[in-house]
Amino acid sequence: MAHPDLDFVIAALERIREKSDRAPRASRTALARLKAGDFVSLSVMTTPALTEHPSPPGRQLQAARNKADLLAGLRERVRVCTKCGHLACSRTQTVFGVGNPDADLMFIGEAPGADEDQQGEPFVGRAGQLLTRILKAMNFAREDVYIANILKCRPDMPEVSFGNRPPTPTEMQTCRPYLVEQIEIIQPSVLVALGAVAVEGLLGTRATMRELRGRWHTYNSIPLMITYHPAYLLRNQAPSEKRKVWEDMLQVMERLERPISERQRNYFL
Ligand code: SF4
Repeated sequence: MAHPDLDFVIAALERIREKSDRAPRASRTALARLKAGDFVSLSVMTTPALTEHPSPPGRQLQAARNKADLLAGLRERVRVCTKCGHLACSRTQTVFGVGNPDADLMFIGEAPGADEDQQGEPFVGRAGQLLTRILKAMNFAREDVYIANILKCRPDMPEVSFGNRPPTPTEMQTCRPYLVEQIEIIQPSVLVALGAVAVEGLLGTRATMRELRGRWHTYNSIPLMITYHPAYLLRNQAPSEKRKVWEDMLQVMERLERPISERQRNYFL
């Protein structure tokens, strides 16, 4: 039966085997418990007890748990935030973020839309479904990566109007510290900003996507790829635009040292 803790330990061991010239080691007790499927007592073991060598799997598991705890605390602060009075009044709920607290790859969008405001999760509408498809083509599940927005509340709209509006610079500046904290906790290896508004919110840079996308930038020393927002691809179905996003994602996969098949190289979204 699948067990997330076991998957996590196996993935960590494989990473150590690939990246280190020393083979991973575990104590007899830890191995016996793994063999017996005794994840409950493994999960409460401290790092030194998990490994004789005070290294990676136990520590990484602990680190992931710490990150999840830190994110839970931050989520609670966001949940009751009223710094933008108008948004606190109009939102159904805050939309904090979703995914693996220990993700190597983190996506940043601009703000929740109507679907996200209803469901409390980022990127669940049509654009979100396209993002999920892009992830799948990259051999990622949504649960593998972390997805968040600059703004945690849906930008308010006049009652009679439909659709969504982009966040204002002031709204983004007010909410940005929460995203900064999320990134500090998760410490992803690669960031992807989706669309010019997300870039403005994250870097304070205003430029066209033509100028920004397709090359590496950095945010606090983390490599940052900028690409089109999936909503843009829904509006503009030209194969050339879809291919651009896919090429940006190929660069991300290369940076993460993910295997890329021939089929993926020739793929069009
Ligand atoms: S947008 Fe951000 S800062 Fe403004 S009320 Fe919502 S959570 Fe608070």
